[in-house]
Amino acid sequence: MGRYTGAVCKLCRREGTKLFLKGTRCLTEKCGVERRAYAPGHHGQSTGRRRKVSEYAKQLREKQKVKRIYGLSEKQFRNTFDRVRKLHGVTGENLFIALELRLDNVAYRMGLAPSRAAARQLIRHRHVEVNGKQVDIPSYRVNKSDEIRIRERSKNLTSVRASLEGLSRATPVSWISVDSERGSAKVTEMPTRDTIPIAAQEQLIVELYSK
Ligand code: SF4
Repeated sequence: MGRYTGAVCKLCRREGTKLFLKGTRCLTEKCGVERRAYAPGHHGQSTGRRRKVSEYAKQLREKQKVKRIYGLSEKQFRNTFDRVRKLHGVTGENLFIALELRLDNVAYRMGLAPSRAAARQLIRHRHVEVNGKQVDIPSYRVNKSDEIRIRERSKNLTSVRASLEGLSRATPVSWISVDSERGSAKVTEMPTRDTIPIAAQEQLIVELYSK
């Protein structure tokens, strides 16, 4: 299945929680979840009346929620999971670390873009460099000590200037250090589950994919 191109607020309503898919615009616009606190679709208003939610349904919804937060397709999400499953350590934690270290997520966290979707566009349009080299792959894995910045020749473009202004407003996570003067950010340490501000039960996702 291809990438979802419909109204993103519907995805939040489907998960019954704010996923902040429009990034900073979610703070200023009227939120879909607050306006219509029920799932979208014909039966949306009746789903809340269901008494029992199966274990499978809980696991599925948790997986969908995380997948939507990071803006991945099922195939991309599953591939990420299959990759981290082979690593040492706790699979759920490794999954979140792998998702956080995607270049699109790091660009979003450092304030270069108001949402992960906007960060992906910035990267695909070749405005972003990692350690001085242009990278146009949103899934590129960033490592400790990597420096991420806007390409010098892109800095004067109107669309990119807004991104640079976002750096000074950024409230990045503890493992990213932003230098708004230089228009760059550095990954100072590897993230851990405690330093990833996503409220989700990763164990449910592991259980779902382990069936
Ligand atoms: Fe989700 Fe943002 Fe839309 Fe609210 S405004 S429903 S948080 S995308």
